[in-house]
Amino acid sequence: MMKKRATRHSSTTTCIEPASPTDHKEKIVPEHKSPGPSQPKKTMAKTCLSDEAEPTQRVKKRARTENENEPPVRRAQTPPLMDTAIERARNVDKVLYGIYEIGAWYYSPYPSEFGAFLDRLYICEHCLNYTNKEAQLKIHKMTCKKRRLPGKVIYQDGTLKIYEVDGREQKLFCQNLCLMAKLFVDHKTLYYDTEGFKFYILTEQIKQSDIMVGYFSKEKLSYDNYNLACIMVLPTHQRKGYGRLLIELSYELSKKEGVVGSPEKPLSSLGALGYKSYWASTLVAFLSEFCGQLSISDISKKTCIHEEDIISTLTQLGLLTYSKKITLHTPAPHIDDHTGAGVVQTLSICITKDMLEKAIQTHRISLNRKLLPQGIRF
Ligand SMILES: [Zn+2]
Repeated sequence: MMKKRATRHSSTTTCIEPASPTDHKEKIVPEHKSPGPSQPKKTMAKTCLSDEAEPTQRVKKRARTENENEPPVRRAQTPPLMDTAIERARNVDKVLYGIYEIGAWYYSPYPSEFGAFLDRLYICEHCLNYTNKEAQLKIHKMTCKKRRLPGKVIYQDGTLKIYEVDGREQKLFCQNLCLMAKLFVDHKTLYYDTEGFKFYILTEQIKQSDIMVGYFSKEKLSYDNYNLACIMVLPTHQRKGYGRLLIELSYELSKKEGVVGSPEKPLSSLGALGYKSYWASTLVAFLSEFCGQLSISDISKKTCIHEEDIISTLTQLGLLTYSKKITLHTPAPHIDDHTGAGVVQTLSICITKDMLEKAIQTHRISLNRKLLPQGIRF
């Protein structure tokens, strides 16, 4: 498309056009996608401490050999969460996780054998297996040798690491992670079926052990270009910039894949705050460095942020104010002097450096990145 610039902009001005002059009206009203259809729920594989995969198999094999007529060892069943839209009563009061005692926020479908309400849930910080008995955790820890997470380290910054874990290869571990995460995430669908996801798990090193403190999951193949399904940072580790770090990584992965991404909607209240902060920071930093004319689509391609997210963020920052009419020539070979065919009038947005600086101060936007580029290992 030939573009005829009808206005000149000073060197401190960024001019943004809608991606297409014919459809900017639709784009100007951010309309978040409705969440995709709920994932099919499956009963989770058994993962609690008393039923660890290998010991259980050994116990079951022995039981069958000794007396074939005896019923098999009873395994606790995890109730499937039928409808995540229904808010269930919290079923765990506190979680004992390594050196931390954490108050649970929401319902999570731990085994019904644990009862309707559990005062204390004990989770091994090394393998995320769980039990409702402290003594059982102590016995487990005598034999639990895991000191690093499964999968590979794809980011490191000092004692912080991010592991990439395949939900198919490490199904039990990822299910344990989802169960624990659900205690602190309100409405997200719990992914029992972890096989279609990769998990990016943030760890802190404590005494030679890498301890999970947060994560996000991502569909291996997303037809909606979602680059993040669920994000969680333990309450004990919030306000340390870890959510922002994980969000930054999710966009680095999108850049590596060469696709524009967006998180699954709706966002949790904490997730929404984290994303608003990231989008504002990234867009303001990008526009501060740019001088000239470009479209929303151009910004999207450069930042890998979805156009809808760009429009909603710039609107919120008060930067999306149409100020000038510009004339665009359509690809029509000749302009009809009588009908005007071949010429489209559209509106442009002018963003000056002053406007950006005002937005930074008004909205307290931090331009500092949490992710060290040199720490990325992919
Ligand atoms: Zn363990």
